[in-house]
Amino acid sequence: MNNLLKDNAALVEKFRSIRTPFYYYDTELLDKTLQAIKKETDQHEGYHLHYAVKACTNSKVLSHIMKAGFGADCVSGGEIQACLNAGFPASEIVFAGVGKSDWEIVLGLKVGIQYFNVESIPELEVINEIAAGMQKVARVSFRINPNVGADTHANITTGLAENKFGIAMEDMEKVITLANEMKNVEFVGLHFHIGSQILEMDNFIALSNRINELQDQLEQNGIRNVKNINVGGGLGISYQDPDGQPIPDFKAYFDTYAKYLKLRPGQHLHFELGRAVVAQCGSLITKCLYVKKAATKQFAIVDAGMTDLIRPALYDAFHKIDNLTSNAAEETYDVVGPICESSDVFVKDYSMNATKRGDLLALRSAGAYGEIMASQYNCRSLPIGYTTEDI
Ligand SMILES: *Cc1c(COP(=O)(O)O)cnc(C)c1O
Repeated sequence: MNNLLKDNAALVEKFRSIRTPFYYYDTELLDKTLQAIKKETDQHEGYHLHYAVKACTNSKVLSHIMKAGFGADCVSGGEIQACLNAGFPASEIVFAGVGKSDWEIVLGLKVGIQYFNVESIPELEVINEIAAGMQKVARVSFRINPNVGADTHANITTGLAENKFGIAMEDMEKVITLANEMKNVEFVGLHFHIGSQILEMDNFIALSNRINELQDQLEQNGIRNVKNINVGGGLGISYQDPDGQPIPDFKAYFDTYAKYLKLRPGQHLHFELGRAVVAQCGSLITKCLYVKKAATKQFAIVDAGMTDLIRPALYDAFHKIDNLTSNAAEETYDVVGPICESSDVFVKDYSMNATKRGDLLALRSAGAYGEIMASQYNCRSLPIGYTTEDI
C-alpha cells in the first residue's frame, strides 16, 4: 500500500531541513476530505456543516475550511476571534460551551454569530440580561443531554446524564417556554453532541431515535418552533490505517442521519465535525535523538513529547508511527519523548523499521487535538504547523 508520507521522497527530503518537532498538514488531503463532505451534504436539503474549530485552529488549515464554504463551531471567545481572523462570516459561527464568560457572550452578540448553544438555565438568564443591555436579541439553541452513550473512551463521552454537558431532557420544555417568554432571546433550535471518535453508526442511530422522541413530545405539547436540529460531531477516523482510510466514511455517516432522523418540514440539520475533517491530514514530525537499549527492551527517544501531542498520555490514544528515513528490518521499540513525566510515551512494544539517531519519524493522524493542545511544560517551544504550501 502507498504510504502518503514515506513514499513522497521529495517531501521527506524537505523535512530534513526543518527544525523538529513540527506539524505537517497535507492540504491536498484536507481539500479532498472537504470535497468528500460537500458531496454528501449537498445531496441533502438543509444540511450544514460547522467545522468544530477546537480540533485544529491552525490558521492555514482554518483558511482551507473557510474557503470550502463551511461554517464554524466554537467553544470559546478565542475561537470565535480565530474564525473571524480566518475569514469565516460571523453569521456562520455557532458557539457552545458549559462555561461561557460574560465577555465571550458580549463578543458573540457584538459580531452577530448565528446562535449560542446554551447549556443551562442560569446561562440563558445571563445571555438574556447581557443582550438586553446591548439592545440585541440573542439567538439561542439548547444543548440537551440526550443520555445516549457512545462506544468510545470514557474521557470523550459527553452525552450521558452523568456528564457535565447540556440541559437534562426533563427540563427541555421548561427552558424553551422560558426562552419564548424572554424579550432578548429567540429560541432557534436544539443541539446535541454525544462524544468523539465514534465509529459505530448505532450510536448515531440511538441519538436520532432520541431526537425523534423529543420532537414528538414537543409537538404534543404545542411547541413547533424548532428551526434547527444540531447533532454535533463525533465521527471517528482510522488511527490504525491512515493510508488505507485517509478519508472517513462520510457517506455512511450522513446516510445514517438521513435514514433515521425525522426532520420536520423546513427544519435545518447542522453538523459539527472536527476530528473527521482534519485528523488524517496532519502528522507530527520528530527526530530520533537516541536509541537506548535496556535489559528487556529498547527505547527510541525522540525530540517530540507529550507537550507536542498529548493524546497518548491523556486518552491512551494510539498514533501510527512511520520511520520516514529507514527501510531496515523492523525492530521493537518503546517510542518516548524527552519530557520529565513517565506518561510521556507515544507507544510501547511497537514494531518499526530499525531506527537510529537522526532518523525522522512521523506520528500519523495527528491533525486533530494535536497542535492545538500543545503546551510549554518544561519551557519548551510550541511546535510550528506547516502546510503543503509552506514546504
Ligand atoms: C468537540 C465538539 C465537537 C467535535 O467533535 P469531534 O469528535 O471532533 O467531531 C462538536 N460539537 C461540540 C459541541 C464539541 O464540543
